[in-house]
Amino acid sequence: MASIDIHGIRKSFGTFPVLHGVDLTIRDGEFIVLVGPSGCGKSTLLRMIAGLEDVTAGEIRIDGKRVNDLAPKDRDIAMVFQSYALYPHMSVADNMSYSLRLRRSTKEKIASAVGNAASKLGLDPLLERRPRALSGGQRQRVAMGRAIVRQPKAFLFDEPLSNLDARLREQMRAEIKKLHGDLRATSIYVTHDQIEAMTLADRIVAMHAGVVQQVGTPLDLYDRPANLFVAGFIGSPG
Ligand code: ADP
Ligand code: MG
Repeated sequence: MASIDIHGIRKSFGTFPVLHGVDLTIRDGEFIVLVGPSGCGKSTLLRMIAGLEDVTAGEIRIDGKRVNDLAPKDRDIAMVFQSYALYPHMSVADNMSYSLRLRRSTKEKIASAVGNAASKLGLDPLLERRPRALSGGQRQRVAMGRAIVRQPKAFLFDEPLSNLDARLREQMRAEIKKLHGDLRATSIYVTHDQIEAMTLADRIVAMHAGVVQQVGTPLDLYDRPANLFVAGFIGSPG
C-alpha cells in the first residue's frame, strides 16, 4: 500500500494547458475512481503519477517521498491500459515476467511470481500462448498479471475494461476489486462507466476541464453533487 499526494499539479503540452492545478490526497489502501469527460486530463494525470509524462508544475509524493524525478521503474507503481499493451512476439509467461527480467530477478523468483499471478487470474493454461491467440478478456487478464507480478504498492488503471462486453466487465470488475484487497494495494481507476465508479470506489474524484470538481464517497456525490456536471455524471437529481 502507498499514500499518493498530488499537490498543485499543472500540465501543459506546449502552450496548451491540460491540468490547472490538481490537489488530491490518496490514503493507503484506498480505491479511487477518477471520472470525467473525454479530454479532461485523466490519462495525463495517471501517466504523470506513473512517471510516463513530465510534470509542468507541482509535486507528486508517494509515501511522503517526492517522485517527480524518478524513472517509472523506480516508482513501485504498475499501470494497466485499455489497449492491454502486450508484446505480441512474447508468450503470456514472458509478457508477465518482462518487468522482473528487466530488474534482473532470479529465475526462481520469476517462476514463483508468474506462477502466483497466473493462478490468481486463471491464466495457468494460457502461459505458453501468444497474445493474438487470446480473447479480449484473456488479454486484459494478462495485462493485470503483468501488473501484479512485481507486487507494486499502487495500481493505475486507465479504462481497463472499456473494450470488453458488459458481462465480462462485471466479472472483471469484481476480480479487480478482489486483487486490490488481496494485494493490499492502493488503486486509481479511470472509467466513464457510472456503475463501475459507484461499485468500485471508496472515493470518486470527478474532474472536468483539468480541474477537480468534487471528491467524495459514491453516496456523497449522489446525495450532494457539487455542481451540475457531477450531478449529470452520477445520475442524481442534483
Ligand atoms: P482523458 O484521458 O481525460 O480523455 P487526456 O489526458 O488523454 O484526457 O488528454 C487531455 C488533453 O491533453 C486532451 O486535449 C489531449 O488532446 C491532450 N493531450 C494528451 N496527450 C497529449 C500529447 N502527448 N501531446 C499533446 N496533447 C496531448
Ligand atoms: Mg484517457
